[in-house]
This record gives sequence, structure tokens and C-alpha cells, in this order.
Amino acid sequence: MREFDLIARLTAGLPSNPSVLVGPGDDCAVLENVGGDRVLLFKTDAVVEGIHFTSETDPRLVGRKALARCLSDIAAMAGTPTAALITLGLPAEHDPAKLDAVYAGISELASRHQVAIVGGETTTNPGRMLISIALLGWAPRNRVPLRGGARVGDALFVTGTLGGSLPERHLTFDPRLEEARWLAEHFRVGAMIDLSDGLAGDLRHVLLASKVGAELLAAAIPISRQARLAARTSSSAKPALVSALTDGEDFELLFTVPSAEAVPLHDAWRKEFPDLKLSCIGRIVPGAGITLRDKHGSRKLEAHGYVHFQQP
Ligand SMILES: [Mg+2]
Repeated sequence: MREFDLIARLTAGLPSNPSVLVGPGDDCAVLENVGGDRVLLFKTDAVVEGIHFTSETDPRLVGRKALARCLSDIAAMAGTPTAALITLGLPAEHDPAKLDAVYAGISELASRHQVAIVGGETTTNPGRMLISIALLGWAPRNRVPLRGGARVGDALFVTGTLGGSLPERHLTFDPRLEEARWLAEHFRVGAMIDLSDGLAGDLRHVLLASKVGAELLAAAIPISRQARLAARTSSSAKPALVSALTDGEDFELLFTVPSAEAVPLHDAWRKEFPDLKLSCIGRIVPGAGITLRDKHGSRKLEAHGYVHFQQP
């Protein structure tokens, strides 16, 4: 199929929203300005065959995941996503039906979150498929929770359950957009981050940026069913708690609030999001690094989060 035909096919019927003045088809998309009381959020992320998915992965879920990762980062800023550009790198020989499925996966999730797909680009990428998505969003000025916002004494919370996200949940997770906006609207969220590299690894990003340490309560860490099952059924699997601390791609929210808000938050959360677990897993302390407390006492946690790139 010629590139023009391919683009026409892919851009027919893409999701739009009121922020779009001119969508796909011109030299640039034209978008409504966000206005003075809002700041822009801008994010890009890529998924690559052989690293983030395999040639066997359902292409609809590949597209879904490519967008969901970006949405999760907008959630980490308590923002609202608005418009996306999609860049596809394709092997010279590719199956148009597979591409349709990738686009269907992207469009389905985009529609659910009122995200417009306003254009993109296709190019050749020998050997493997690559999908890169650039996503715009906005957040209220002065209410963007950054990684550097954790303070000594804050309570540390995490949504959902952690660990064992491969082989399935990393493809089907729901970005916590609504939850994050609700949190920032109703509570004094200090720092917030979405968990892509594992609890221990991503918490370290927050601690370094905030120049503080954290004490985690081992018994309070919400371990996923998948991580428990893997630990029980496979002799080579990590203990479930280690999975919850170090597995990547949970895409849950990790955040801090002042300790005085911990109990009101718990109560309000249960009413607002009865189907999503919220756990207070510890607190922010002076110093640096992560201390893990269990019935045997306290120890410094050396385990790192999942590392994407292997060192030579
Ligand atoms: Mg992130």
C-alpha cells in the first residue's frame, strides 16, 4: 500500500474533541489555547517490538499500551490529556490489518479519555515495529504535583496492587487519570509519580528529587494476585514482596499527603473509588534511601527497580 493510501486509511474516523480546530490532514494540527489558569503538559513515549511487546502480542493491545503509558504520565501530574500525535516506524513488509488493529487499540482508549488523535507520521524502521506517541494535556496552574514535593512526616500512598504485571496486566492497565485529578483537587498531594519502573525504583526518584528518605511497612505493601500466584507456583520466581517492590509496569500512582490528611483521604477514597484499593505503605523520613520495616526489624532496601537498559 502506498504511504498516502495508508495515511488516509489510518486517519479516517480518528477520535476528536472540542480543543481541535484542525485535525489530521494539514501541515500541522491547530489546537485551542489552554488559557491563563492552566499550564500545558507535554509528553512523549515509545514502545518497540522486541522490548515492550513481541511480534506475537495482540496489535490492538500494543496500540493501547503505547497510549496508556503516556496517559499514565499525565495522570502522575494530575492532568487532563487532550491531543496526541502518533509516529509509526514500520518494517518495509508489514500487514495493513495489523496496523488497523494498532490504531483501533489507540483510538478506543483515546475515545474513553476524550483524547483527540490529531495527526502523526509513518516511516520505515527495518526489522521491527515502533510506535511513538506525543501527548498534550493540561493541569490547573499551581496544582501540579512534582516529584520534589515530598516532605518529612508525609504519609506515602499507593493505588491498586503491585508486582507480576508481566505477562498480561502491562498491556491492559487503566491509567489512573480520574483518581489523580480527584486527589489533587481534594487533598494536598505533595509528590506524585506513576509506577513504571517498580515501587522501589520510582520511590527513589521521588526521594532524590525531594531530598528525603522513606520508611516502608512491608506488611502494608499491596501485593498483586499475580505476584502471589507466581511466587507460589514457580520455584524460580521472586518472593511476592520482592515482586511488588521491584517489578516494573504496574502503572499505579505513588504519592504523598500530609499525615493529618491520611485518615480523611482513606475514608473519602473508599466512597469515591470503592473498586480500587488504596494503601498507606509508609512515611517520609529525614535522610536518604528506603528503609523496609517488617516483624524482624528495619533494614535498608538495596533492591533496585526494574532497569530497562542493560549495562554492557
Ligand atoms: Mg512516569
